[in-house]
Formats: sequence, C-alpha cells, structure tokens
Amino acid sequence: MTNNEEYINLIKDWIRPLQKSLTLESENKFINLLGRKKYFNDYLCESLCNLDNLKLNDEFIKLFYKFSIRYSEYKNLDINQRKRLVIDTRKGLLKLAKSIDLTYRNDDTNSYYSKFIDSNLSLNSEISLIKSIGKVNKNKLNELGIFIIKDLINYFPRTYLDYTNRVKIINLKPDNLYTCIATIKKFYIYKSKNNSNLAIMNIVIFDETSSIKITKFFLGKRFRSYTFFSTQKNLYIPGTKLAVSGKVKLSEYGKNFVDPQIEILNNNEESYNFSGKIMPLYSLSDSFSNLSFIKLIKKVIIYSKQSPDLLNQKQLDSLSLLSKSDSLINIHLPPNQTALIEAKKRLVFDELFLLQMKFLLRKRKINEKSITQNTIQKRFLLQDFLNKVPFQLTKSQEKVLNEIKYDLSDLTPMSRLLQGDVGSGKTIIATISLLIVLEKDQQGALMVPTEVLATQHYKNLIKYLNPLLVSVELLTGSTPMKKRKEILTNLKNGMIDILVGTHALFEDRVIFNSLGMVVIDEQHRFGVTQRNRLLNKGNNTNLLTMTATPIPRTLALSLYGDLDISQITELPPGRVPITTKIISEDDLDKLFKNVENEIGNGKQAYVILPLIEDSEKMNLSSAKKIFKYLSEEIFLKNKIGLLHGKLNSEEKNNVINSFLKNEINILVSTTVIEVGIDVPNASIMIIYNSERFGLSQLHQLRGRVGRGSHKSFCYLVTSDKNGLDNKRLSVLEKSNDGFYIAEKDLEIRGPGQILGYKQSGLPDFVLDNLPNNKVLIEKAREEAQRVITDDPDLRENIYLKDLLLDNKDNKFIHEFLN
Ligand code: ADP
Ligand code: MG
Repeated sequence: MTNNEEYINLIKDWIRPLQKSLTLESENKFINLLGRKKYFNDYLCESLCNLDNLKLNDEFIKLFYKFSIRYSEYKNLDINQRKRLVIDTRKGLLKLAKSIDLTYRNDDTNSYYSKFIDSNLSLNSEISLIKSIGKVNKNKLNELGIFIIKDLINYFPRTYLDYTNRVKIINLKPDNLYTCIATIKKFYIYKSKNNSNLAIMNIVIFDETSSIKITKFFLGKRFRSYTFFSTQKNLYIPGTKLAVSGKVKLSEYGKNFVDPQIEILNNNEESYNFSGKIMPLYSLSDSFSNLSFIKLIKKVIIYSKQSPDLLNQKQLDSLSLLSKSDSLINIHLPPNQTALIEAKKRLVFDELFLLQMKFLLRKRKINEKSITQNTIQKRFLLQDFLNKVPFQLTKSQEKVLNEIKYDLSDLTPMSRLLQGDVGSGKTIIATISLLIVLEKDQQGALMVPTEVLATQHYKNLIKYLNPLLVSVELLTGSTPMKKRKEILTNLKNGMIDILVGTHALFEDRVIFNSLGMVVIDEQHRFGVTQRNRLLNKGNNTNLLTMTATPIPRTLALSLYGDLDISQITELPPGRVPITTKIISEDDLDKLFKNVENEIGNGKQAYVILPLIEDSEKMNLSSAKKIFKYLSEEIFLKNKIGLLHGKLNSEEKNNVINSFLKNEINILVSTTVIEVGIDVPNASIMIIYNSERFGLSQLHQLRGRVGRGSHKSFCYLVTSDKNGLDNKRLSVLEKSNDGFYIAEKDLEIRGPGQILGYKQSGLPDFVLDNLPNNKVLIEKAREEAQRVITDDPDLRENIYLKDLLLDNKDNKFIHEFLN
C-alpha cells in the first residue's frame, strides 16, 4: 500500500463516524443525542479540534476549529442554529472528502504524479523536505523566492512552448507559430557591425524534408563576450537535436525562424515526454535548467489539490470557471491550449475578484462612516487665491473643478482620479481642492514621487498661499532631524495646513490632526497600498490622484474600480505643439549647432541620459560622461549644469534654481526631471538612447519643454537605425496626444511592463492577460457585488475573508471584517 492510500484511509476513518453521528442527530431533530459515552456536541467538539495527525491544510484546520467552538455552545443554540451548524459541518467534511478523493482519482495525470506523493508533505512544507532536492537546488530556489511548496506551485511559467502544432520544415508557412523537431547542421554567432551592443546567432537546422535558418538576437554588451560565444557554441553542436518553437518569417533569403524558443533535446528522455504537449518555460537563473524545474514541479504539483478555493462549487458552476486546484495544475502542465486558457482565466479571475472586493469594502466604509464629515466652512481662502492666479482656467479645468466641488460638498468622501496630459494644468486643480478642504478647518497632504518635484510644488504653494496665512511645510527623506521633529509636532497639533512631501509621508510617525484631503501627483509612480497607507492617516479622507499617464478604460476599471475619473482634455491656450524628431548619433554635431543658436536667442535646453555614470554592463551614455563631453568639447561658451538622483537635496535645488533663473543654459540630467518640473523658458530636449525608454515616459520627458508660448523641439537620439524600435519611437513623432501614446505603449509592451505590479497591486501575469479579459473583469465585479450583498460580513466565505485580512495596509478591511 502506498503512502497516499494510507493517508486517504486515515482521513476517511476520521470522517466516517463524524458523518454518522451528524446524520443521527439530524434524524432526531437536533436534540443533542447522548451516545454511548458522550453527548453529541461534546463528541463533535473534541473530534473537530483534535486534528494533529491528520495533516490537513490551513483552510480545513481553521474551519473545523471554528465548528468545534460552536459545538461547545451547542446547548445554548436554538433548533435552527443547531440545524445550520450540523449542515455546515457536513458540508465541510464532504469538501474534505472530495479534496482527498480527487488526489486519488485514477486518471492519466494523477497516476503519473501519484508516485511522488509523500503524505508527510503539504503546501506549507519546506522545499528541503522534497525527496532528493539537494542543498544546491534548495539555495537556488530560495534565491527565486521559493521556500515552501506553495511558493513553488505559485511560481507560474513565463511562457510556453507549444509542441502541439508540430510540423515538418517543408510545411512551415510564414507568419505562423510552429514547433519543429530538427537537427543542427551549422552554427555561427557574430557581433553586429551596425550596432555595438548586439550579437547575432544563426543556426541552420534540418529534418528529413528540408532545412531552415534560425536567427536569434542578443542585445547587451555581455552577449558579445568570448565566454558567451563559447558557451553557445558548446550548446549548439552540429548533430544536436532541437525543438524550435516560434514564428516563421519570410525574408529576402527565404523562410526563417526569428527569435524562437529553443530547447535542446539530445538524448534527454524528459524532453521527449513533451512532444505533442505544451511545455512550460520558467524565468530561472542561469544555473537552474528549465527541465529540472519542470521535474520539481511534477513532484509537487499534486499538492495543488490542497489549495483552498475562494469559490465554492456553485460559484464555479455559475461562473463557468475551473477549480483553483485544477487551474494550478493546468497552468504548469497544460494538456492542451484550452486547458491552459481556462487555467489562466481562473487565476486572473481570483486577482480581479479580490481587488473588486477591496474596492467594494472601501466604498462601503466610505458610505457608512460619512456622517461624521465636517462640512462647516470656517475659513475663506478660495476667492482670495483665485484673485491672485494670473490666468483664466480653461473650460476643461472648470469642468473638472465643478466635479470636485460637487464631491467635496457631499457627505461621502471623494475618491477621484484626475487624468490630464502633461502641461494641462493639474497642479492648480490640486491647489484649489486643498483650499476647499482647508476652509473646513482640515489639513491636506500633497504627495509626489520625487524630491525635486516636491520642492517645486512646495515653493509654488508658499508663494501663493503664505499671503493667505496658509501654512505649508515640506517633508522628504532629506529633511534634517530637527526640522522633521518640528514638522511632526506641528502637524499633530494642527498648526500645519498642507504637508507636501515624498514617500516620507507614509511613515507611521507622520500623524495629522485632521487629515481631510490627500492629493497624489503622478500617481502612476505609487502603489495602491501606498495610497491606502496615507489615506488611513485620516477618517473619511478625500482622495485626489493625478496622472499624465492615462490608461485605457478597461484597465482603469479593473485597477481603479473605486475611483471616479475626471479628465482635462485641453491644454492652456497659446501652446505651440512640440516638434519631435528621431535622429541618429551621427547627426548630433549638426544638432549641437542648432542648440547653440537657440541659446543665443536666450532659450535653454535639456539633455537626458538613461544612466548617471558609465556602467560596464550596459553600453549606454551616462549623464556624467556627456556632461563632461559637452562642457569641455562642445559648448565652451555656455554654462552647463548636471542633475541626477545621487546629488544631495541642496545640490539638486541649486542646480534647478540656476536653471530656472537661466544662469544655466543646458541642463544635463537623468530622468529625475521626468515628472512635473516646470521651466517654461526651456525649448529644446535631447534624449540619448531613447529606445531604452517607454513611450509614455518619453512623452512625459518631452513635456518639460513646450511649456511657454514659443516653438519647442524634442530630439530622440537612437543608435538603432532600423528595426522595430524606430517604428515605436515614430509614434512620438506623429502624436502629441498622451492618451493615444499610452494606448500605443500598452499595445506594444503590454500592461505588465507599463503599470507593473507595484502600481496595480496585480501580478504582471494577471496584467498581461487583462486586455483580452473584459468579460472577466465584469464577472469579477458582479460576483464581488453579489458576495457582499449576500454575505456582508463574509461569514460564509471564510477563506476569502482570510485573504482580504492578510493585507495589513487595508485598514478599512480590518475595521469591517474583524
Ligand atoms: P501638469 O498638468 O503637467 O501638472 P502644470 O499644472 O504643471 O501641468 O501646468 C503647466 C503650466 O501651465 C504651469 O506653468 C501652469 O501655471 C500653467 N497653467 C495651468 N493652467 C493654465 C491656464 N488655464 N492658462 C494658462 N496657463 C496655465
Ligand atoms: Mg504636474
């Protein structure tokens, strides 16, 4: 008898007598029968908390423990409550029985895995307990963030090699995805002559029908090293059998595979197992091979069956979703494409569902607590401020402001996302919103991602607001100790009206007297969690988040489901569109002449670099190097400044101030100036290695020019003359519309790249699958709504509740569910 059967029998032996006594009790109308030795309730109470040798997973342990406590009070329950408890207990036991029976089911997959089952292990077992894992592997896995079996199961494949569409070389058609099994005929690798950063590998493979070339590109200095070349050469020895999977393209030299996935098959039995199947490919460090990782996954995948499920069978049926455990198995070892799609769908659903639950709970909190909101006007600031503003608000600004005013006049706190292109004038909207809250004698916080921007906002606010007797302070990571203490004290006793700052504002010691409004500028740089941490510093805090990197509606819905959205759709009058040009490094000298002319006319320029200093790893220009080059060899007559993140705040301020006053003609900088910096006299921007940046980021960067009424230019310097990158960059040549650019960026790079886990609170895996999942987003919203309506305190959804409570930064969830 195998371990597994023993284990199953153990559980079955535990369940059977319990089920029997539950049946008897219910047949006898819940009178709390006296058995041979004990009363029904005492027997249940003891059995349900005596779980030690059963090795159940947490979900069941918690569930049965709860029941056990209820049985200790059984005598005090009325008949309906007793009935309910008995039914629930039976359901729980049934679920447990099902969960182990599934592992026992003798279908194809399970019989394969069952030989690995070790009943001593569970999802929470350390990976070192897996048979024959070895210390080296354990350490390597730890480096990947994998410590227990659950981590291993939650380490999803990056992509898949689909062996199901296997064809002979002769039958390959351009622009389709195929897998070929073939043998290496020739191998060569060389450094590109056009691009000093690129190596190109060619492999010719053949089968009994024909031959075809594979081309692979390696971008990065290290791929041009001797070591890299020789490892590749040793890997792809002629005669070696390969599985090649990818897109076939037609070039002037005929068909070839461009950048396919390659798997070496030679004499490797395991790999042959995959023919006709879909092979997962994991992101692993160089030292861990994909095949050994798959072997490991096969050893532990069976424990997926222990994974608790957020959704019960009824929900799964009505939503047509796969069970959690099946989706975990299929995400790693999908038997076919349909199974894989269904698995992804289920896993994505869970994340969306949880997110929507959080949104709804937050909304509920807002609605229930809003009565306490302070609405009495105690100060009069707004009109005085508006009298000082040197321009008229645009129609679009007025409209947004009305939306905000409406929100703020209501008892329910505001939760609003303000989207508006670079330079559309979001700052003044933020200022006005803060003043409205201040008039009710509450405080405001303005949070921004960089110190440079924080300082700029701070100075502007002081300029306009100090005359109105509004006190504004600045708190960043580099605020001196003494000043910090003073600020924190005055904040707590209500002496400070507005606190401007960076991430320093999240810290626990930052305590407000009565925080009425949080404004988050450039909100795409912050995460959902961070935003909540700041909001939790007040009660019923109004929230205004602002961004110039808009996201398409579907995404906005799923990521910011709890926010209302406002949009500034026009720029202030008199702006001349920026002209953008892609140029090669060779044309820089000519460009520098133009720059000199512009400077002669009193204008200023930015030069942007991806790095601060030269780096061995990357062949990119650095700010320090270009600063030296420009000041010593090109612009001898002009004053050049250098700005980057490693300067201390005083140095940064000095440079920016000099640039503002036009004492510096050219500012060489890293992307620290990306957000918010406002120097209207600057009219030229040169961005080196522009192919390195995302489109939205480039659009933000170039938004630093074109802020005055004169013509401005942005030059995107690239070393990569042809190919995809220029196609991408040309979007910027053609358009000045941040919304359009963001959509293109999304199309090209996918949401995972653009938003990232941090901002969205969603794994990249989920983000990347979002654009095609509109229906799923809606389903998740509806289901979350239904659950909250039917079961407001989540008494029936214990596991869901646990997951929600797991996130410590969501104070509102704790308030509601604990
Ligand atoms: P962003 O939306 O990128 O944060 P800012 O708020 O920094 O834009 O505004 C950009 C510039 O436009 C600032 O110099 C600001 O004073 C100016 N501005 C804002 N609104 C108007 C307006 N209605 N008319 C003229 N200039 C404006
Ligand atoms: Mg701004």
